[in-house]
Amino acid sequence: MSSPKNSIKVAVLPGDGIGREVMPACLELIDAAVKLAGAPPVTFDTHQAGAQHYAETGEALPASALEACRTADAILFGAMGWPDIRFPDGTEIIPQLDLRMEFGLFAGVRPIRWFPGLPKVLSDPRAEGIDFVLIREQTEGLFYARGRGEIRDDQEAYDTMQITRAGTERVTEFAFRLAAERKRRGKPGTVTCVDKANVFASMAFFRKIYDEIADRHPEINRDYAYVDALALNMVKKPWTLDVLVTENMFGDILSDLAAGLIGGMGMAPSADIGENHGLFQPAHGTAPDIAGKGIANPSAMFLSGAMMLDWLAVRHGEQNLAEAARLIEAAVEHTLSTGRAIPMEYGGKANCAEMTRSVISSLGAVQKEVA
Ligand code: ATP
Repeated sequence: MSSPKNSIKVAVLPGDGIGREVMPACLELIDAAVKLAGAPPVTFDTHQAGAQHYAETGEALPASALEACRTADAILFGAMGWPDIRFPDGTEIIPQLDLRMEFGLFAGVRPIRWFPGLPKVLSDPRAEGIDFVLIREQTEGLFYARGRGEIRDDQEAYDTMQITRAGTERVTEFAFRLAAERKRRGKPGTVTCVDKANVFASMAFFRKIYDEIADRHPEINRDYAYVDALALNMVKKPWTLDVLVTENMFGDILSDLAAGLIGGMGMAPSADIGENHGLFQPAHGTAPDIAGKGIANPSAMFLSGAMMLDWLAVRHGEQNLAEAARLIEAAVEHTLSTGRAIPMEYGGKANCAEMTRSVISSLGAVQKEVA
């Protein structure tokens, strides 16, 4: 834990598409929540980066933006990438992957939970109890192949999956610690190892390391699932899941499936955590189909902001930052459960600005229940 701070500096990268719409809304909300909680002020250092910036300047992630991220207390990220803007080799502009590698952001933390007031995707009443966290390894796995893939004679293509002992140990340890923390809050205390250990040597190795880490945490339940079976059970009985840990590509796919369980990407926050840095971003992308219309649901961005405040609270021993996080979560819940504003993504009438106004004006109403 670092020492308490007089002020917190956050590097802000709004990026492209709806990232540019949900980010200003989130900064306004964080500012209001932090003030209400009496937490140290949070200052924002905003930098341009992403596909649009690349189109304008030839640079996707300027060195100044990277440096700001390196020296900030946390990084708040909107979304980056645009289908029509590509590098000369045809690949998409996705600096978020570079940031994960640069700062060793090995744990992709994807919490999924049900919010009362939203239309239900699953008809089973137990779906109201959906509350699990998917931990995606983010520095190796099949994404190791990015930039290394090989096509031979226009006949064969190869992408290599990398699973290392160190990479698997650190992400599995992270998952077990999170499960222990959740258990203290009444959750089951289970970590499910999601793999394909019955087919691939790399995945059997992943499971072996999982077992070694599990030995150090006897208070936490072990659980194993092949990724295909897990995909089925994630839809059939997601309320039984607690913490899941998995390889990079499996995690990429399962996190979109998980967001689908609660009706869409606009309610799914995420955090990319490393030893020394934390980057917080909604699980969604730039949503080119709705960008520029002002109708994006900012809730995933808001909840990612709350995850950032929680992470900062632990790092700097500042309980008031955690209170600001609780205020944001409770204000989102209050907005939805009272029907004050339902996002257009869920068939409601509230656009991005209306959702933002409603959540900010709910902060006062939830302050008593949070205190
Ligand atoms: P990426 O490849 O970067 O993940 P994508 O295009 O696959 O991007 P998203 O940008 O997340 O995926 O969009 C998927 C769908 O979800 C789109 O139809 C988009 O409009 C919708 N969507 C994503 N985020 C939101 C949001 N915050 N509010 C409303 N709809 C959203």
